[in-house]
Amino acid sequence: MSTPSIYDVIVVGLGPAGSSAAYEIARAGRSVLGLDRARFPRYKVCGGGVSARLDALAGREYHATVEAAITGITFRYEGREAFTIEGRTPLAYFVMRDRFDAFWADRAAEAGARLCDAEAVLALDETDEHVTVTTASATYRARFVVGTDGALGVATRSLNGSRARRRAYGLEAEVPVGGCPPERRAILEMWAVPGGYGWTFPKARGCSVGIAGFRGADPRPKARFARFASLQPALCDQRLDAVGYPIPVYTPGLSLASARIGLAGDAGHLVDPFFGEGIYYAVWSGQSLGRAVVGQLDAERPDLAAYQRWVEGALYPEFEAAERLAALAYGYPRLWYESMRAHPDVVDWFYGVLRGEIGYRDLWGRLKRHAVRLAPAALARRAAAIFAR
Ligand SMILES: Cc1cc2nc3c(=O)[nH]c(=O)nc-3n(C[C@H](O)[C@H](O)[C@H](O)COP(=O)(O)OP(=O)(O)OC[C@H]3O[C@@H](n4cnc5c(N)ncnc54)[C@H](O)[C@@H]3O)c2cc1C
Repeated sequence: MSTPSIYDVIVVGLGPAGSSAAYEIARAGRSVLGLDRARFPRYKVCGGGVSARLDALAGREYHATVEAAITGITFRYEGREAFTIEGRTPLAYFVMRDRFDAFWADRAAEAGARLCDAEAVLALDETDEHVTVTTASATYRARFVVGTDGALGVATRSLNGSRARRRAYGLEAEVPVGGCPPERRAILEMWAVPGGYGWTFPKARGCSVGIAGFRGADPRPKARFARFASLQPALCDQRLDAVGYPIPVYTPGLSLASARIGLAGDAGHLVDPFFGEGIYYAVWSGQSLGRAVVGQLDAERPDLAAYQRWVEGALYPEFEAAERLAALAYGYPRLWYESMRAHPDVVDWFYGVLRGEIGYRDLWGRLKRHAVRLAPAALARRAAAIFAR
């Protein structure tokens, strides 16, 4: 394939956001170069949980990479109590990110994108006419750049400099066969860490075990992880080497688009601040940014401002509602836990979000409408637990 002197679009970072954008641009017949600093297939610190609503957004082809599916979740509190609520249909699928991300990248390549791995982007320089993309081995030019290089990449810095950005933290370990929970169910543990939760997610050859904290940095995340893992009987005292990575949660006020550079996925801090789900929003924002760029390629005065408006209209209201849920769930974890136990219908509303039937805004609205019904039972259970001690 000959190298054009200027690409229509360069995509920086080939996670689900970048590959989804590259796919949209390539299938519109435009020239697109995708660059990633890692050699593919590559590991990514992640629980690999994909909510079932991704199917409506991107089809079911990615199911070729799915290792496990769940219809129910076991909720626990401090490793002691537990209850399980089954749903009707699959809520979420679980993947290993090396295979899953390679699937999206291959799909973009098949649509005509040129992809180069093991080539880190060092700098972006935007002028009125184009963007210059500098790597260690080459300098490229493009009419537009899709910035999808994740939480710590260069793209978000190029648009936001040192502007404060919010980050949750996550630690995760993949545990091989023998350590996984016997049932094919996810386990969520409220208050596994202050202001967060812990998870055990099923995989084909084991499980993912991790913690995520949404209420500020924790000075001892590894110790928290070790404590959480020690409370999982199914892990049989295995020694787990957890890897940590920031989770770039929703940060209002960020610049997500200039005239020729747009940010999607983690680079745009498009992770929900309640559950820490980022893959679904990475694919959604990547697709949307890819289409926005295609729409601007022949414009007289190119500008990606419409993409920023789309994020603010479609995603931010969802994240704002998720933030309110987080304040409730992590501020009053015991009450939240008791409410869920006493009201399986409320848990089913949450399952409805995962299935794509409702959004976080609807969920928040329902909670408000039913607050008078929900709170007393939870408070009564809590009082009974205190008196029983
Ligand atoms: C511990 C943990 C657990 C999580 N669990 C879940 C979960 O279960 N479900 C869920 O939905 N989300 C989860 N997330 C969030 C999820 O991993 C991210 O939101 C998702 O990966 C975002 O996709 P992305 O394409 O935006 O970025 P990424 O997947 O991070 O991809 C960015 C790509 O950019 C490349 N890159 C970086 N810098 C450069 C550079 N300078 N030049 C070129 N390329 C570069 C990287 O190599 C990478 O391939 C978790 C996160 C953490 C930390």
